[in-house]
Amino acid sequence: MEKRDYYEVLGVKKDATKEEIKKAYRKLVKKYHPDVNKENDAEEKFKEIQEAYETLSDDSKRSAYDQYGHAGTAGFNPGADSSGYSYTQYGAPFDMGDIFNTFFGGSGFGEGFGFDFSQRTGAGRSGGPREDVGADIRYRVRVSFDEAMRGGEYKIKIKRDVPCDRCKGTGSEDGKTKECPVCKGTGQERQVRNTILGQMAVMSTCSNCGGTGRVVEKPCSKCKGTGVLEKEEELTIKIPAGAYDGMVLRFRGGGNAGRNSGVFGDLYIEIEVEASAKFDRRGNDIYSQESIPVHIAVLGGAIEVETIFNDVKLKIPKGTQPGTIFKLKGKGCPVLNQEGKRGDHYVRVDVDIPTKVSREERKLWEQLGRM
Ligand SMILES: [Zn+2]
Ligand SMILES: [Zn+2]
Repeated sequence: MEKRDYYEVLGVKKDATKEEIKKAYRKLVKKYHPDVNKENDAEEKFKEIQEAYETLSDDSKRSAYDQYGHAGTAGFNPGADSSGYSYTQYGAPFDMGDIFNTFFGGSGFGEGFGFDFSQRTGAGRSGGPREDVGADIRYRVRVSFDEAMRGGEYKIKIKRDVPCDRCKGTGSEDGKTKECPVCKGTGQERQVRNTILGQMAVMSTCSNCGGTGRVVEKPCSKCKGTGVLEKEEELTIKIPAGAYDGMVLRFRGGGNAGRNSGVFGDLYIEIEVEASAKFDRRGNDIYSQESIPVHIAVLGGAIEVETIFNDVKLKIPKGTQPGTIFKLKGKGCPVLNQEGKRGDHYVRVDVDIPTKVSREERKLWEQLGRM
């Protein structure tokens, strides 16, 4: 399905203020909240609104979107999974739908985003096993301009919580449990929550036992009953060719393990790209400058132009004026998620006016001057 423009989704202008965006979002989210709106496409619309808001309410994501469109939000895009950035090998299979069902009372959200909207820990789960979502990890990777253009694999070391090997993540020394003293075994607690729809009294999962109604009798001696241990791990992350400064990639399940056999949080990798002395990037286009000798400007010729991956021969027509811009089609930056597609390279040609001339050159210039 063709993705709609985020501004269009929220019904705001391109230059809308943060306040206007927030206002539009609140209005729409109330209208399309699946608990309120029973129309068939309400859920789709709701997700679309969430996604648009997630991008437009965040300054860095919004500017990336303004510059690069939907590709600019690739790291956050649910579609990113299909392009292979996600760490499927990490942690338990992560069923987002389950979490949304929990929060929205079974309104059946599929896989998605909008995580910020729900509470990340065991929200309102009734009776099931404890499934705390582990905390997300944010990590910054600094790459050179050239590395960002080429993309590639990087090894990074992160510390994160993994399930305890002694108790297999249960937190129990001997596997025995007893009735939870807080909820008396019901697994439920009454809570009043402030939501964007107003105050809602909800029965939520007991925070002491996580809804199981049982607690560990004797905490595991290795993890002190938390079920998790901190471990330093080396991960290999793939940075896409054409990555831009400030881009954020989400690796689903790459974060911390939740306590007591919980679900892994996500790993967010923010990419910092060093500036290049030679190239200037604007969107997917590259800009650079070259100087040519006067005689080539006058008579024409060919020069070698440095582009991001290789040198390219550029034909200079006779009578080229200083400041002329030539376009090298398809020699710009790789377009994210579009294999083989690249922007253009614009080279501005300046003319080297000699500041020192030899006696012989002087004669020649004088001769020219007299002609
Ligand atoms: Zn343990
Ligand atoms: Zn309890």
